[in-house]
Amino acid sequence: STQFVIDGLKASVEGKEILKGINLEIKGGEIHAIMGPNGTGKSTLASALMGHPKYEVTGGTALLDGEDILEMGVDERALAGMFLAMQYPSEITGVTNSDFLRSAINARRGEGNEISLIKFIRQMEGKMKELEMNTEFAHRYLNEGFSGGEKKRNEILQMMLLDPKIVILDEIDSGLDIDALRIVSNGVNAMRSEDRGFLVITHYQRLLNYIKPDFVHVMMQGRIVKSGGPELAERLENEGYDWVKEELGIVD
Ligand code: ADP
Ligand code: MG
Ligand code: MG
Repeated sequence: STQFVIDGLKASVEGKEILKGINLEIKGGEIHAIMGPNGTGKSTLASALMGHPKYEVTGGTALLDGEDILEMGVDERALAGMFLAMQYPSEITGVTNSDFLRSAINARRGEGNEISLIKFIRQMEGKMKELEMNTEFAHRYLNEGFSGGEKKRNEILQMMLLDPKIVILDEIDSGLDIDALRIVSNGVNAMRSEDRGFLVITHYQRLLNYIKPDFVHVMMQGRIVKSGGPELAERLENEGYDWVKEELGIVD
């Protein structure tokens, strides 16, 4: 089954070191949550893993089934099975959602193994139904004029169709009302499998009532400073982060 091992990952933005040595091991079937105050580097971790050009990796490795994804280009990472649902998905004018999805699926499947149009449409419409999305969204330009909740559902639709090995969800809960949160979480839970690991980044414990993590990690100042089970998320929700700082002697 899938194995993803991040070892000593360091990354900088505009010359400033943000990630100061991240170690994390995710196995297929596991859901890991990363929580932490704003500005501690959670989104930077997601972006560095996906190869966003603004984030310079200055050390460490991230082995997906033995291959260092940090050595790969952005497209290669997606092909290898990395998927990121973003906090702020971008809008792309001139590309319809369905065209975007089909080319992403075909890139993931590889040359000579492209999905037929009929099969693609059937799959897409099936998943859209599960996510309670109107199928007209297939023909709209990617994310253009989508509400916050629609964008997030669309990210989950992409995930469902791409069948990735490692899924990173960056604050997928932000801006979602309870109904949308339930639908999005059901979509994620339906994708749980021995071949897939999840990294769920969230500022609030609420999401973790819907997507139940096996492990919870606290990130502060570019490091994972504490790891535990779901009870850790509950304590953070009740008591905030100060006790972690005190315990570790972190001054900010
Ligand atoms: P989090 O997701 O935990 O709230 P981020 O990873 O977004 O934190 O940010 C961590 C730090 O890196 C912050 O100080 C932020 O200002 C800085 N940073 C992140 N992305 C950029 C960027 N594209 N340009 C400049 N600074 C950035
Ligand atoms: Mg933030
Ligand atoms: Mg963030």
